[in-house]
Amino acid sequence: MTPRQPALRSETRQSNWRRSNLAKYRAHLAVQRALVSGALQKQSCEVCSSDAVDAHHDRYDEPLNVRWLCRRHHVRLHRGGEDMFPVRPSE
Ligand SMILES: [Zn+2]
Ligand SMILES: [Zn+2]
Repeated sequence: MTPRQPALRSETRQSNWRRSNLAKYRAHLAVQRALVSGALQKQSCEVCSSDAVDAHHDRYDEPLNVRWLCRRHHVRLHRGGEDMFPVRPSE
């Protein structure tokens, strides 16, 4: 048995951070791949129909479950939270 050291604890915190960023990164890569292969198609912004869009992930563990938003509305969604655009039918 190895006693836990403070250094290990802070490393754990950092690897949590890395894991969540890795999920984000992987989701982004999956979208790029799917766009190239044709598995996923870009759509216009769901708010203003602009064609210059980013893929937005509601969940990074569902990398191909994306919403298409232009830069402006993408930023706004991240600032304002998920409730800003009630586009999905309510359960
Ligand atoms: Zn827009
Ligand atoms: Zn986003």
